[in-house]
Formats: sequence, structure tokens, C-alpha cells
Amino acid sequence: MTEAFDSTRAKQAMIAYCTKKGALAFGVGDVDALEKIAPKGHGPRDMLPRVKSVISIGVGGGTKGAWAADAKTLAYIGDTETTAYRIAYGLAFLIEREYGARAIFCPPDMDPEKGARTPMQSLKLHAEIAGIGARSMAGDILLHPEFGMMFYASVFTELEIPADAPMEINPCPHPSCVKLYKKSGKTPCMQFCPVDCISGTISEDGKVAEMHYDAHACATMSQQYEAIPNILLDMMDAKDPIERGMAVHSPENQLIWYKLSIGAGELLSLCYECMRVCPITQTALMADPVARGRGMRQKVAEAKAQAYAELDVEAGPSV
Ligand code: SF4
Ligand code: SF4
Repeated sequence: MTEAFDSTRAKQAMIAYCTKKGALAFGVGDVDALEKIAPKGHGPRDMLPRVKSVISIGVGGGTKGAWAADAKTLAYIGDTETTAYRIAYGLAFLIEREYGARAIFCPPDMDPEKGARTPMQSLKLHAEIAGIGARSMAGDILLHPEFGMMFYASVFTELEIPADAPMEINPCPHPSCVKLYKKSGKTPCMQFCPVDCISGTISEDGKVAEMHYDAHACATMSQQYEAIPNILLDMMDAKDPIERGMAVHSPENQLIWYKLSIGAGELLSLCYECMRVCPITQTALMADPVARGRGMRQKVAEAKAQAYAELDVEAGPSV
């Protein structure tokens, strides 16, 4: 007899899988809520018509050293989204294998019909509705009180699993930011953005009342470190075929093609100065990669002990 499908148990198994692979946070977004908020043509059902659950996973950022490095270095090594994508791919396969329901890794790519900065789906919205991040003063970058700033990936599936609710409390602004705002009229992210693209106000009760983000200025600032557009510009500006050939095949540019061919990230960048000074990103308990490592090992050990307890067998060696 086939065992009845237990959606809560299935969700636990998915959380255990993602945690073991390195995810810090896991949430399931309500599809109807996402459909209401997402712009026309960019809802989950536009991509997978019979989607029942939108799963969002979050992974932590780079090392402490990355935050202490110079701007150019941080721009290249500050993000870890490829780890999130790898876990999400694996999760989609796991769902199809274990539960026989269709699943896709949600492409994090831009919509080819809508220009260079419009994503096919908003991974940020998925994470927000799934309750693993809240919009911050820093251009809506999602923050989490325990994990700080994370990188996200999504999986869509036709399997129905219990949805989570958005976070009840937004950790931004941090109390120290409210203090600074009262003194100077600026929060750290506003004050240290090199191109002044963040502005806003904080209400008397210490909440974000208004936020403005100049996405164009941010993109222009960040694009100076983006390698592909620069190579394309060199190619277009080339005066003759030899110069054009150099732009494509020069030794320094070959690294980019290599990265593309192996699917390595860090081809596009952010300048991250707003997050370098954000107290949530820098001091959240699990934002520290070393503490995070300890916490992750603890979580895996607990999940293992629970699984052994459910099977009613003696636990194996601790991890
Ligand atoms: S990434 Fe850089 S340019 Fe963009 S908002 Fe943050 S500090 Fe400003
Ligand atoms: S520095 Fe961080 S916590 Fe403070 S207002 Fe900006 S985004 Fe929010």
C-alpha cells in the first residue's frame, strides 16, 4: 500500500536537505499572495501554470574578510548566490524523485523581452512572502534579524506544501540606525552610499516611514565593476578586427568566458557599501560565517538525532 502523502513531513525533509547543503533559511510563499503582488506577466503561474508552492531558500554571504576588503574585491567576492542556485537545483530534483511532483529551479535571469534590469521573477518577493527576509531602507535589500543579508533562490513545484507567513517584525532600521538618524538625518546606509542613491525618513516610533532608492545611480555605480558590459563596450569601440579580436580573446577576458562556461558567478556586481556599514548585516548572530558554521553543524546534528529518534534507533557518531 502506498503511504499517504504527509506535506508537513515532506517540508521537514526539504528543510533538512537544504540545511545540509548549506542553506540558512527556508520558507514557502503563498502562491495566491504572490500572484496578487507580482507585476502582470511575472507571477509564479506565468512561469509554471500549475504551481502550488513557491519555495525560497537563503544562503549567507561571504567571509568576514570580504567585508574588510577594498571596494573592488568586495564587489567580486561579496556574493554567494551561486550556492543558493545549486541548492535550489538539487531541491527541484529531490521533489520530483521523492514525491513525483513537477518542480523547477526558478531562473534568476532577466526577462529578455523587458530589458537588462527586469527579472523574469522577483526572487526577493518570493523570499519576502515566504517569511525569510524583510525589505530594508537600503534599496529594499532583504534583511533577516538572525542571518543578516542573504542571497536567495526559488523553486516552483506542483506539490502542495504548507505556506509560511511573511515576517511580522522588520529588523530594519536597527536601533543604532534610528539613533544616528535622529542626530544626523541619515542612517548608515544613506550616509555611506557613494552615490547618494538611498534616502528616506524614519517615523517617531523608529520605523521606516519612507524610502527612495535611485536604482539607476546604484546600477551605474555598480556597473563599473561589471566585467561583461565592459568587454562588450571594448568590442564595440574597437577600431579594427585585430582590436576587436583582442577585446574578445585577450588573456584577461578569457577568464570571463571560462567563468561563464563553468557557471561561476560574480559576473555582475553590487558595490555593497550600504551593507558594509549595516549593523544587521554585520552583527546578526548567524551573519558571522564562523558562528554560522558552528550553528549549521549543530542544526545538522539535531536533525540527525531527531531522525534517529523517529526511527527509534541509536544515534550514530556525532558530526
Ligand atoms: S550597492 Fe552601492 S550604490 Fe547601490 S545602494 Fe548600496 S551603496 Fe549605494
Ligand atoms: S543601515 Fe541597515 S539596518 Fe540601518 S537603516 Fe540601513 S538597511 Fe536598515
